[in-house]
Amino acid sequence: MANTKNNNKKPKERTNKENKKNASKALNRSRSGIVSAKKKAASTRKNMPKKTSKLKIIPLGGLGEIGKNMTVFEYENDIILVDCGMGFPDVDMYGIDVVIPDITYLKENISKVRGIVITHGHEDHIGAIPYIISEIDVPIYGTALTNAIIELKLEERDLLKNTQIFTKKAGDHIHLGCFDIELIHVNHSISDAVALAISTPIGVVVHTGDFKIDVSPINSEMIDLTRFGELGKQGVLALLSDSTNVEKAGHTDSERKVGDGFEKLFYGCTKRIIVTTFASNVDRIQQIINAAVKYKRKVAVTGRSMENIIKAATELGYMSVPAGTLVELNQISNIPSHRLCIISTGSQGESMSALYRMAFLQSPSDRY
Ligand SMILES: [Zn+2]
Repeated sequence: MANTKNNNKKPKERTNKENKKNASKALNRSRSGIVSAKKKAASTRKNMPKKTSKLKIIPLGGLGEIGKNMTVFEYENDIILVDCGMGFPDVDMYGIDVVIPDITYLKENISKVRGIVITHGHEDHIGAIPYIISEIDVPIYGTALTNAIIELKLEERDLLKNTQIFTKKAGDHIHLGCFDIELIHVNHSISDAVALAISTPIGVVVHTGDFKIDVSPINSEMIDLTRFGELGKQGVLALLSDSTNVEKAGHTDSERKVGDGFEKLFYGCTKRIIVTTFASNVDRIQQIINAAVKYKRKVAVTGRSMENIIKAATELGYMSVPAGTLVELNQISNIPSHRLCIISTGSQGESMSALYRMAFLQSPSDRY
């Protein structure tokens, strides 16, 4: 995708003829910006080691679609992967529960694959790990909360004991083959999300992962914009960044605004409240719990994945749930409706989810 070939051309010799001189004056003025940009790029390239190989950046999913995020970075004999997410089936994929990236290319080049670096713990970035790790046995690198969620997934399928998982934090570097990967703190709807500055033999690629610029995040510091600025000054070979709704003008509200929305809905409500979200949306779940506590509701959680994630996030300090707030599902029939909130998986209408079964009352035990 990029090479170090110097395309700078020699400036053409000037003519002494007056008419050509005048005509070229205006042209030179408009070119001056381009020339200085070229000089700058050439001087940046001069500082880099001379390499002739190309860096390949291959998206195996996540481009032009929601979910299934997985990107290959390949340089000579080294390959690293960024993220390993699942996608949801289209309406015409009957009988399909989960869509995962096609990893044929990785299996064919398995001797080059050095590891998978994960940006954050959302399903569309980690959901394919249990399916793929049994086919390509490579180490996984992520932050504490991300790894805790990955470990729960692997444990469910008895894959944890055979998988190497390394926990890093924002600011750390990971060395994999010819790549040096620096983790950079970003804001997102889940804590412990990172962007990556991937140093390759021909320059630095910045891969932002999912992020937002949140001046009042729920459970962490603001995004490390200073580090992005420093990288920009040093020179970046490529920036890989996308954002849902990027076409819309303006900016995304702070995650805290979502909490304000919950509070408005909870205020004055006399009925039972059921809220659905992704199990891995830790900061959202925290805000639902906050609203429930504020309006004196007990919280019951349905869906094993959500129960597990709340437990792991609480143990690691990424969530705080006041004692006595959570109740078991088998206790909820004793709690008045206006004192209860149920948090459920199934926000995408998955047919196996608790919300779906609640909606269609498929068994007497689903009659919460
Ligand atoms: Zn995400």
